[in-house]
Amino acid sequence: MTDARQLYQEVIMDHNKKPRNYGVLADANRSAEGHNPLCGDHIRLSLRVEGDAIRDIAFQGETCAICKASASMMTAAVKSKSVADAETLIQEFRDMATGKLDTHTGAHHLGRLNVFAGVRELPSRVKCAVLPWHTLHAAFCNEHSATTETGEF
Ligand code: ZN
Repeated sequence: MTDARQLYQEVIMDHNKKPRNYGVLADANRSAEGHNPLCGDHIRLSLRVEGDAIRDIAFQGETCAICKASASMMTAAVKSKSVADAETLIQEFRDMATGKLDTHTGAHHLGRLNVFAGVRELPSRVKCAVLPWHTLHAAFCNEHSATTETGEF
């Protein structure tokens, strides 16, 4: 097993055992649900956005391990960031997962999120990893539901 693959599996396991920001925000002012019919992932995001800042974010759902780890890491990464910075991460994560961005050679702000770079070799799991990000984008656009079966996929 390569180091990258081992790190990936450790991160997935860690975030499934102890998902960060799991739950529903009582004082949310943005929310969206996401569906990935291919795998059966269903995720609900709630956020409190003040001005241009993401003050708080939480997720809940019935998902596979990859989707849950991605959602958990996403909430930790975008909390207290600006909406614009979060949109940059959404774009970079999608590009990484679909192979448009090579995180070894290209500039990006993904940090530890780049453990998901290996998902591009597992086409059936790309949508699992990207669903939370797609749902976050829907919440920013005031669309209340997102699916991996439309739009930019
Ligand atoms: Zn899945």
